[in-house]
Amino acid sequence: MSSDIDRRPIPEHAEVLVVGAGPGGSAAAAHAATAGHDVVLLDAATFPRDKTCGDGLTPRAVAELDHLGLGTYLDDRPRIDGLHLHGWGAQQRVRWPSGHFPGHGSAVSRMELDDAIRELAVARGARMVQGHKAVDVTMSGGRIAEVVVEGPDGRRPITVRDVIVADGVRSGLGKALGREWHRDTAYGVAARAYVPSGRADDPWMGSHLELRGPDGALLPGYGWVFPLGDVAPGPLGELSGGVLNVGVGALATSKRPAHMALRPILEHYARMVGDEWAITGTPFRLTSALLPMGGAVSGVAGPNWMLIGDAAACVNPLNGEGIDYALETGRLAVELLDDTRRSPDHTGRWRDILVEHYGLAFSAARRLAGVLTVPQAVPTLGRPGIRSASLMSLVVRVMGNLITPDDADLVARAWRTAGRVSSRVDHRPPFQ
Ligand SMILES: Cc1cc2nc3c(=O)[nH]c(=O)nc-3n(C[C@H](O)[C@H](O)[C@H](O)COP(=O)(O)OP(=O)(O)OC[C@H]3O[C@@H](n4cnc5c(N)ncnc54)[C@H](O)[C@@H]3O)c2cc1C
Repeated sequence: MSSDIDRRPIPEHAEVLVVGAGPGGSAAAAHAATAGHDVVLLDAATFPRDKTCGDGLTPRAVAELDHLGLGTYLDDRPRIDGLHLHGWGAQQRVRWPSGHFPGHGSAVSRMELDDAIRELAVARGARMVQGHKAVDVTMSGGRIAEVVVEGPDGRRPITVRDVIVADGVRSGLGKALGREWHRDTAYGVAARAYVPSGRADDPWMGSHLELRGPDGALLPGYGWVFPLGDVAPGPLGELSGGVLNVGVGALATSKRPAHMALRPILEHYARMVGDEWAITGTPFRLTSALLPMGGAVSGVAGPNWMLIGDAAACVNPLNGEGIDYALETGRLAVELLDDTRRSPDHTGRWRDILVEHYGLAFSAARRLAGVLTVPQAVPTLGRPGIRSASLMSLVVRVMGNLITPDDADLVARAWRTAGRVSSRVDHRPPFQ
């Protein structure tokens, strides 16, 4: 299927060129094609491709997939009711909050999910170019006139009207356009692997707030177990049947970098949860990656380009989830494109839209995440906290960024106030 697409000549022009076909880029391409734009979706990889991730979908991501038209895709996928939190000899099962978002999440391997969103974009009319990398731009009057694309047959320019930059955490194209990642606020380092399990149909995501290394030392991080259900032969190579995604993550700042060898910690963690989760094999496909978080980048837009998803550091600083924000920013970017006739320069408007949607929550969350990088902060807060069911419900709601501007209860108002205060005293507010 993909080889047919790959043999097509590289298009010479695109009204909208989307660089990167992860959830952000493919969602943007699908929305833009639906809105009638002539769209080219470009990715350096050939699909299906893997992406280091926990594969967890929060209710916020489920809502956005539904909005995109992929709601039924999740029908035969795991339906996750909430989080099963562990730590300091206690545990709590906390349901996702009911309200604005659906009351359930899910978990799907990125080999499958990203290909499904990409196929949706193609079905809606986006022209896909795989195995070709955006390597350079030609500017004219401050705008991108051409994006230079490199593939097996050499380099070719694609002339463009607009570019959506969705090239992920390192954002090489974003960097070429002036994007800068600031590591003085919290960022993440995390690793994941897949394991076979007899409990992959569990409707709870496991989360260990007390993470210990092989020597028993407390580490400034957390562990997760996300049940993927029955995985068909294919997407995960030799692994099929009941599969879990297990992972460990840590928060860091430039002042307090996380010096952890993630592989032995993850292997130890998988052994630690082995009996509880009926794990029947050793971790495989173990990979790790960095996570820019909380809008800690500047240079998110120019006159005819916008950065979305990880490229714009749209990752929740409290739990490392970013699929939902990638999908959302893909949609929001296209809404701005549709407004282009009124204001053909995206520079300030795209940054304002990101600030409006995520600024307060990201500012408060990354400040709290920064506190959690201080040794002893996690046990001091976690030991008493995990014993309180109501406190843990609140934590899940805040950590999942499941508070909406319409929520008027005390917790929502307090969180927004914290965000406003935090933004006011931010040395560098999100996306600036
Ligand atoms: C260990 C780990 C665990 C995580 N767990 C979760 C989780 O459980 N739930 C969750 O919601 N989020 C999680 N995240 C975050 C999530 O993976 C990202 O937020 C999400 O993938 C962002 O999507 P994106 O579309 O912005 O970028 P990506 O998914 O990274 O896609 C970027 C695409 O751009 C392509 N590309 C890059 N450069 C170029 C170029 N120059 N030219 C052409 N193509 C290019 C790449 O090949 C890639 O396909 C996790 C992250 C990590 C590291």
